[in-house]
Amino acid sequence: MPTLDEAIEDLKAGFPRDRLLLDPEQRLAYAQDRWPYALWWTKEERLSRTPLAVLQPLCEEEIARILPWARAHSLAVLFRGGGSGVCGAAIPPKEKNSVIVDMTRMNRILHLDLEEDPPSVTVQSGLLGGELEKALQARGYTTGHSPASLHISTVGGWIATRSCGQLSTRYGNIGATVLELKVIDAEGKTQTLSQVEEWLGSEGTLGGILEARLRIFPWAAPRRFQSWEFKDLPAALSACRALLESGILPLVLRLYDPADRLILGPAQKPGILPEAFHGILLRHPTWMDRALTWGEKKSWLKPLVLTIFEDSERSFLKGSARAEILFKTWGGKLLGPGPARIWWKKRYDLGFEIVEGYFRRGCFTDTLDAWAEWEKLSSLYQTLKARLRSRCLLLAHLAHFTPQGACLYLTLAGSAGSFQKTRELYRELWRMALETCIEGGAKVNHHHNIGLAKQPWIEEAVDPEWKRIYLAKKMERDPSRLFNPDKLFRPPEAGRLR
Ligand SMILES: Cc1cc2nc3c(=O)[nH]c(=O)nc-3n(C[C@H](O)[C@H](O)[C@H](O)COP(=O)(O)OP(=O)(O)OC[C@H]3O[C@@H](n4cnc5c(N)ncnc54)[C@H](O)[C@@H]3O)c2cc1C
Repeated sequence: MPTLDEAIEDLKAGFPRDRLLLDPEQRLAYAQDRWPYALWWTKEERLSRTPLAVLQPLCEEEIARILPWARAHSLAVLFRGGGSGVCGAAIPPKEKNSVIVDMTRMNRILHLDLEEDPPSVTVQSGLLGGELEKALQARGYTTGHSPASLHISTVGGWIATRSCGQLSTRYGNIGATVLELKVIDAEGKTQTLSQVEEWLGSEGTLGGILEARLRIFPWAAPRRFQSWEFKDLPAALSACRALLESGILPLVLRLYDPADRLILGPAQKPGILPEAFHGILLRHPTWMDRALTWGEKKSWLKPLVLTIFEDSERSFLKGSARAEILFKTWGGKLLGPGPARIWWKKRYDLGFEIVEGYFRRGCFTDTLDAWAEWEKLSSLYQTLKARLRSRCLLLAHLAHFTPQGACLYLTLAGSAGSFQKTRELYRELWRMALETCIEGGAKVNHHHNIGLAKQPWIEEAVDPEWKRIYLAKKMERDPSRLFNPDKLFRPPEAGRLR
């Protein structure tokens, strides 16, 4: 068996040196993505996941050439886009040496087709979302896929995590946008597919996504912004449901619970409360819970709903007028355009420095994406509040509405004094939140997917029909588990992670 040194020598001889990262510090940066839990990891933990090499190919031939080399040296192969995933899907395995195929140099727009129906754009998968939108909007178009991480995530990463953007109530998730994919399997064979279901959420385990043809839409303005306040969350939810069920799909619809509105809310990101004060709150969740409960009972703290309608929609006037009638029927009070406008302006402010700051100060924070049908949302929210809010700061908002339901987006933050106790609290609350959502009938892989963070709950999270199709394709495309081997479904003997 050749040694790892021999493997690297082979690689140096066969791959362009200026796109091969071997420096230890450069490689260490690829031991993490944006999964908050990994911010706890010590240098040793990160070293145990550091890839042997990072390759930055320019074309599919370069990828095809390294696959037999990786197999010959028993190395795992991980495709990576922007590294913005929040569940650890791009993190290399501990049990096996790995190489990263960093796709961000394969970032060209290949073809813009405005004559076809529907119009489309074909891109290499390592293109960052911000670059794609800039080019499209200059021509008066958009993909309509606009995650908060637009500027730090790639087209390939969107597909591999089944991403959902901030305009999804109108445009759907990334799956609704993809028309065709060009992919590469473990044998280095490429294929162009129009049936792509199994690739959505595949986390790089089926092979590499090389190119994507995406549906595009006219990019329109002006927009109509409105903000509403409701007595409580059930009333706000009923109003949103009535709007969606009437067949109207606003460009943006967001519902903030009173705590999220107060601490992180759209009008005051990163919060009207100074950040230093957050640390005190996080250490005393019961105070915060009592204050919030009191404020909610007195109706001083109320949920907020934002709507944005676009001029080009045929439903523009009809939509916003209809929203006004329905929201008033459910007791909504019109606040004017202010908060919705501010949200729009700040929609790509990421706040990851805030997350890192929390961890540096011995606190934690993480987010969970749980999709549920209308009937389940209100009671799920109440149960989560009852179980978690006295133990951590719990913020919630709803987005990604469809006529069937919506995604409840939770932010958990807390501290328990010592590092060890805080880490235990984090894990316990994460487990409680996930299991409460699953028990409440929600799907917990809505748009952040699975990664390492949710792997113990994968069976409850993924759709059984998706699992069936995915596993059949996995057997065809990567039976020897060359690609990202510790993600999604692990062989039974591998046990549970973490
Ligand atoms: C502040 C912040 C805000 C965010 N907001 C949103 C949001 O609004 N909506 C949302 O959906 N997500 C959001 N995310 C999460 C993240 O941006 C998405 O999951 C995104 O789709 C990841 O894309 P990426 O290019 O960074 O992928 P990476 O993190 O690099 O990789 C993610 C997974 O995709 C695989 N992969 C990447 N490229 C390829 C490829 N070419 N071929 C095969 N597999 C590949 C990797 O192996 C990995 O398993 C946010 C993240 C942050 C940090």
